[in-house]
Amino acid sequence: MFKGRAAIVTGSTSGIGHGIAEALAREGVNIVLNGIEKPEQIGELKDKLAGENKVKVAYSNANLMTREGAESLVALCAESFGSVDILVNNAGIQHVAPVDEFPPEKWDAILALNLSAAFHTIRMALPFMKKNGYGRIVNIASAHGLVASPFKSAYVAAKHGLVGLTKVVALETAELPITCNAICPGYVWTPLVEKQIGDQAKAHGIPRERVIREVILEPQPDKRFVKVEEVAALAVYLASEAAAPVTGTAVSIDGGWTAR
Ligand code: NAD
Repeated sequence: MFKGRAAIVTGSTSGIGHGIAEALAREGVNIVLNGIEKPEQIGELKDKLAGENKVKVAYSNANLMTREGAESLVALCAESFGSVDILVNNAGIQHVAPVDEFPPEKWDAILALNLSAAFHTIRMALPFMKKNGYGRIVNIASAHGLVASPFKSAYVAAKHGLVGLTKVVALETAELPITCNAICPGYVWTPLVEKQIGDQAKAHGIPRERVIREVILEPQPDKRFVKVEEVAALAVYLASEAAAPVTGTAVSIDGGWTAR
């Protein structure tokens, strides 16, 4: 079903994005990996993904905080594989601080990567999807795309924006063989969360163990971290032909967080 399709997964050198790239590659999808690590650090990752799954893998360390970076990433996929069938907007960063102490440059960076990059990749990828007659856009939002938490002004604003963008793109493509959905995970154990524990400890003035129990997993009723593979399986479903009528949704995978 997927064999020979081409996918871009932004921020796929780590965490959730890497899990999604692996899961798509297992289905026979050719992958454009992206992340800001040094190229030599990526070589092994790229060869492993290609070798284990017998798919083609390209890599770009484009900085998606810039418009040019997003444009070059889509161009690389089209040049390497002839089209763009699946676009997973996953790259994201976080910063935790009270709004009146929030560094403006962090606000700009979070909005640029977590929201504007998706606009740029989508606007560049849609013409290829329309031409090819197949398009699946999966935006990795967050439970914070649906509800808020203190100290995360930029992240919550960007993720709510990403859910909004998802709905608009879904409506504009509704009569075409293209879908656009958002995935809204609760906490998934990745380097992004690991970093937050220190920041949250500082913001709340409590030790790490209490941050994990009382802050991080507090809103997640099942009291466990979502697994990367669980998010990846959902992304593969949304990218599949079977998910054709699923569009404009924000799918929660959060252990019941947003059911409250
Ligand atoms: P991560 O820190 O493990 O990985 C981030 C990826 O983004 C890396 O590949 C990194 O190289 C890339 N990246 C960073 N800056 C970039 C830039 N300027 N240009 C291009 N790539 C860049 O993060 P993660 O936890 O896997 O998060 C992935 C996505 O999932 C993010 O959008 C995040 O907001 C979202 N999310 C994560 C969680 C969680 O609990 N981990 C929960 C909900 C949503």
